Amino acid sequence: MDKQKGQGIPLKRALSAVLPYLVVGWLWISFSDLIVSRWFKSPEAISLAQTYKGALFVLVTGLVLFIFVYRQLNQDRTLLSLQAEQQDEILKLNQFRESIIDRANVWINVLDTEGKVVLWNRAAEEISGYTRDEVMNSDVVWSLLYPDEETRETVLAKVSEILRDQGEVVGFETTICNKSGEQRIISWNSRSLKGIDDEIVGSIAIGQDVTDIREAEHMIRRRDRQLLTLMDNLPGMAYRCLYDEHWTMKFVSSGCYDVTGYAPDELIDNQVVSWASLIDSTENDRLTNEVEVAIGNAEPFSLEYPIERKDGSKAWMWERGRGVVEGDELMLEGIIMDVSDRKALEDELSEMATRDALTGLLDRREASRLLDEEIGRARRYERPLAMLWIDIDHFKQVNDELGHAAGDTVLRGFSELLSSRVRQVDLVSRFGGEEFAVVMPEMSAEEARQTAERLRQLVSDTPQRLENGKSVDLTISIGVALFPEHGDNGPSLIAAADKAMYEAKAEGRNRVVVASADQAAHTSENT
Ligand code: GH3
Ligand code: MG
Ligand code: MG
Repeated sequence: MDKQKGQGIPLKRALSAVLPYLVVGWLWISFSDLIVSRWFKSPEAISLAQTYKGALFVLVTGLVLFIFVYRQLNQDRTLLSLQAEQQDEILKLNQFRESIIDRANVWINVLDTEGKVVLWNRAAEEISGYTRDEVMNSDVVWSLLYPDEETRETVLAKVSEILRDQGEVVGFETTICNKSGEQRIISWNSRSLKGIDDEIVGSIAIGQDVTDIREAEHMIRRRDRQLLTLMDNLPGMAYRCLYDEHWTMKFVSSGCYDVTGYAPDELIDNQVVSWASLIDSTENDRLTNEVEVAIGNAEPFSLEYPIERKDGSKAWMWERGRGVVEGDELMLEGIIMDVSDRKALEDELSEMATRDALTGLLDRREASRLLDEEIGRARRYERPLAMLWIDIDHFKQVNDELGHAAGDTVLRGFSELLSSRVRQVDLVSRFGGEEFAVVMPEMSAEEARQTAERLRQLVSDTPQRLENGKSVDLTISIGVALFPEHGDNGPSLIAAADKAMYEAKAEGRNRVVVASADQAAHTSENT
């Protein structure tokens, strides 16, 4: 329409110039002839006037024509130079566009309506390995890039969809085979290209080589999976938590079920319980302090503490973790293991280390330590404390008559009897051979003497049974010493009790002697 309108303009302009000329010319010829025939009568004058009139007409029209042509040519010249400038601009713009397309680090190609390549930039050459000369103006590229027929057909179906203007493609990924036989994953954005009259003239595709990104993603996913498998198979639970007063868990591995009885979901974000609430509240300060110190020194921390499991039972945890900064938040991560079995074994071992192997009573070292502790307490609170020193009478005879093994049996039986007949707080120990000590906190002199007497009586009334069915009568001699009257420390108290015991021996055995500050022993007669 515009084009036709444009074509009509010169015709109109030519007509509008010629028509007035014809009218003026015709009027000039008609009227000038009339005037000439009126003004001049002689044929010579008329002929001369006609000549001048003709010359004047030529002069005037020549002048008008000159001005007209001159103006037109001048206009054309301006137009031509403008056009030349515009063409220059267009050329520059094209060069600029081509250089941008060519230098882009993404693959850009343009196809015509038949799917032939009409533009192939440098990145396309680099990624595919195929040069412009190898692919331009041909559709050979499809079988080069997609040697597998099925894949090729899928891709071509997409291309023809775009060429039919049925939608745009964003992030469509294909795996191409480049010239060196390597597979690359390309993510495509593509759409159709339209001409001035809105007709599809081809399509443009922009491709990004995402092979490395996809490989990295794949690797991260694989590593995540491996890590998860590893964590799920850990002998404890892995965790990540906030460094707050609740130890708010952000991640716990499935091992937490075995360790605590809670499922991960119940612990994460304190949904059912917080980790802190599982820990014995008396331990919290110690643990917080240990973690704080480790974080301050940028070191990992190791903790041991008891927790209450979901079923209410107590379990010992061993934890090793470290502080990690995530964003601007400090978090803790590490592993926690149930060490209840080890802890029980340790307790058993340390108990065993303080016990006498034959009788299971406290050994001399542990008894001395505990005696010092009890004396300290009695001194602090100004409380009484008594100590009994016991030696079996004529024990050598038992060994001599019944053998050493029978002697051992008697020692064991005697120990059990002794332990079963004192208070829970009393400390019964074997100091060596057939010498025993009983530390009795909170016991006055008279109470101690009565207790000693009761024990002496009990032993003499209770024959010790042997494995062979026989039994042995036993008696004991007991020395009683009191804190602080007979000694204000462990060794002096023992010495006083021992001395009193010897006095009991000297006085005939099977008796109790209470030590006295002035060394005068008070005896209680045997019966
Ligand atoms: P007393 O104390 O009344 O003066 O006479 P005793 O015969 O008991 O004399 P003494 O205390 O000196 O002897 C202790 C004996 O205890 C000596 C040793 O053979 C015996 N004896 C010490 N330890 C053990 C032991 O572990 N097993 C056995 N079977 N006998 C032991
Ligand atoms: Mg003895
Ligand atoms: Mg002895």
